[in-house]
Amino acid sequence: MDGLVIKNTGSWYLVRTDEGSDVECKVKGNFRLKDIRSTNPIAVGDRVTIVPNNEGTALITQIEDRRNYIIRRSSNLSKQSHILAANIDLCFLIVTINHPVTSTVFIDRFLAAAEAYRVPVNLIFNKTDLYAEEEIEYMDALISLYDYIGYPSIKISALHNTGLEILQEKIKNKITLFSGHSGVGKSTLINALVPDVHLKTGAISGYHGKGMHTTTFSEMIELPQGGFIIDTPGIKGFGTVDMEKNEIFHFFPEIFKASKDCRYNNCIHINEPGCAVREAVENHYISESRYKSYMSMMQEDIEEKYRK
Ligand code: GDP
Ligand code: ZN
Repeated sequence: MDGLVIKNTGSWYLVRTDEGSDVECKVKGNFRLKDIRSTNPIAVGDRVTIVPNNEGTALITQIEDRRNYIIRRSSNLSKQSHILAANIDLCFLIVTINHPVTSTVFIDRFLAAAEAYRVPVNLIFNKTDLYAEEEIEYMDALISLYDYIGYPSIKISALHNTGLEILQEKIKNKITLFSGHSGVGKSTLINALVPDVHLKTGAISGYHGKGMHTTTFSEMIELPQGGFIIDTPGIKGFGTVDMEKNEIFHFFPEIFKASKDCRYNNCIHINEPGCAVREAVENHYISESRYKSYMSMMQEDIEEKYRK
């Protein structure tokens, strides 16, 4: 019997079978993943094969290859990681121009990590009810910038329920993930999208309250129109993804594209002669803010190397 893992409590999994029933499952004892060392072999979003036993529960005996997955390092020192979710169809990064400010550096780092994880991202600009004219102009400029690179945006007000129709349509029958800084309105939005979940809101208490970051609990919220929203406490961004310094530009699609015309094929677009990326920045084909984010990731990588 096959199904989808919709909840992970840390000690057992809930599987929605393709026939439509929910079965509590454990994992077969010696189950291991070949590619990563993780504290949990299975995550929400995994497609699995289960073998029912006579107590009404079942054993997970097989896991389908994942299209993508996101992880969190257990600690900086250990190589062990926790798989937060698998097979994400679409991720929404919720941003606010103000209350709180979401910086372009934060957005660009998030997008780069998502590229590395092969998770498509759309942006949601929330709290549009609060913006003054200049903030709306700035928002619209960001929307055209990101649209041009390949990241579509939606403008909404989660509090006033405006702009939600397009979003409802986009999340239908998909497995989606909502991320963003604390206070951007993630809980308010999910409550508006799924009338009977009632997530706690309020910038101070945070998405799930304090002290939940270490939990291994995660589940998927079922949508009335079909599909699921992944609800994993403590994900704000994707965290650090292992990227080699000389491949960071691969995760900035427009920089990667421009780099094909660089004179040297090992160019990392800092100060090499004949760099087509620098030229594109000077000619405004690549936005300064994106290039700045790229440089900030390069810089951090250099600092990290020195600390070791
Ligand atoms: P989370 O930390 O991302 O889950 O953010 P919350 O959903 O808890 O929202 C933080 C605060 O922003 C709450 O006081 C919400 O009422 C408020 N908020 C959320 N969405 C909007 C919006 O569209 N407009 C306005 N004005 N306030 C909002
Ligand atoms: Zn270059």
